[in-house]
Amino acid sequence: MSQARVHGAGPTGCLAALALAQVGWEVQLCDPLDANQLLRRQRAYALTHSSAALLDRLGLWQAIKPQLVPFSSLELWDQGTGRQSHFSVADLGRGRRRRLGPLGAPADPGAGAKGPGSGGSGAGSGGDQSAVGWILQHGPLMELLLQQLQASPLVTLQLGQPAPSPGAGDPVPLVVGADGSQSASRQAAGIAWLERTYGQACLTVQVRLGGARADQAWELLRPEGPFAVLPLGGDAFQLVWSAPARRLRQLESLDAAAFLDQLAGALPDQLQPEALLDQPRAYPVAVALAWPLARGPLVLVGDSAHRCHPVGGQGLNLGWRDVACLQHLAARVSAGRLAPERLAAAYRWRRWPDLLATLLATDLLVRLFSNRQRLLLPLRRLALDLLNGSPLLRRLSLAAMTDGPCRLWRR
Ligand SMILES: Cc1cc2nc3c(=O)[nH]c(=O)nc-3n(C[C@H](O)[C@H](O)[C@H](O)COP(=O)(O)OP(=O)(O)OC[C@H]3O[C@@H](n4cnc5c(N)ncnc54)[C@H](O)[C@@H]3O)c2cc1C
Repeated sequence: MSQARVHGAGPTGCLAALALAQVGWEVQLCDPLDANQLLRRQRAYALTHSSAALLDRLGLWQAIKPQLVPFSSLELWDQGTGRQSHFSVADLGRGRRRRLGPLGAPADPGAGAKGPGSGGSGAGSGGDQSAVGWILQHGPLMELLLQQLQASPLVTLQLGQPAPSPGAGDPVPLVVGADGSQSASRQAAGIAWLERTYGQACLTVQVRLGGARADQAWELLRPEGPFAVLPLGGDAFQLVWSAPARRLRQLESLDAAAFLDQLAGALPDQLQPEALLDQPRAYPVAVALAWPLARGPLVLVGDSAHRCHPVGGQGLNLGWRDVACLQHLAARVSAGRLAPERLAAAYRWRRWPDLLATLLATDLLVRLFSNRQRLLLPLRRLALDLLNGSPLLRRLSLAAMTDGPCRLWRR
């Protein structure tokens, strides 16, 4: 039986361990944080259809569904030009869900797979055209993943203990580095980290909003940076507010009333902030890529392999497409169709087009829309007018966001 060790039990590492176990690998998953610490992060993720397809294939979709808040429309609003664009489920395109399989992975990655959540339900996310995307809170997601890992006979969990050193001469044939953007695995392997920090940071906070639809998400393209409004159920919303780091530090230090005042000035008139539900927190944002993505037995997935601006909510989804690709290759090893020592090289070459395209697309969005350049306004007007006038262009743009830019050629 093939063996792997996964470093990092964040959302990507946990899913990678389940995915490998599903195709018959014996997996050790380690993280210096214990289970309670792993659950504690205050964050909500916008899940795309590529992530839904992977959860379905791992047999997790039905279990996670009650925790998901679907949104059936997405409003894109460029505050610089006043142009608005509306994406709905109609823009997903008919029949796309049946064809869907994350990049580098066919719809059935692991024939004969055994292990936790073995086999997608088929009745899960497949065919679910009712949502443009889903919002999922970190806590319930991690609770489900940790339960599944504990129940798996193929997974050994080592949480709350110093992780084994990821050095050379590792006896395990596959080491998965899922240990976040400061990855010790990546550094120990001497893999380069190409990083550019943005002048902006991003602030997350949960609020109650009046006048907002519970099934609608917003991406506001403001001159100071993109601003996402994500529904959490009822009148609760997660905000992801990008702006210059100094401004966000000031916002963080305001009392609730003053913060809500500033927020009201940033949101469209129809969205009225009513109450703060948690403490605003600012994070640095950067675009970064590890090069190469694998070396020796080490394969990097999730934030240890790449980071992107939170615009469009791509980060976790991109990491989960890494997992889908890794699972596909691991299944080929289990089936004797790929030599174990070729897995890392195959992963490296399969993943870079999707990663590069997604990082470039999010970077371009930020550069084009986060500024007060009057010369760019005609280009932005043209882009949004074309989007509004062409259902095909809207469908392609939504497909790029939800399946990754590299899936477009199949459509
Ligand atoms: C403000 C903000 C909003 C975001 N919103 C979205 C969104 O809406 N949608 C989306 O898709 N993405 C979003 N992202 C990105 C998303 O949060 C990340 O991509 C995701 O958390 C990465 O998960 P990960 O498991 O790869 O890494 P992490 O979550 O960073 O997990 C890494 C794990 O590795 C462990 N670790 C550290 N060192 C070691 C070691 N030496 N050995 C073993 N383990 C170790 C850590 O304890 C941790 O548990 C957002 C990011 C930010 C900053």
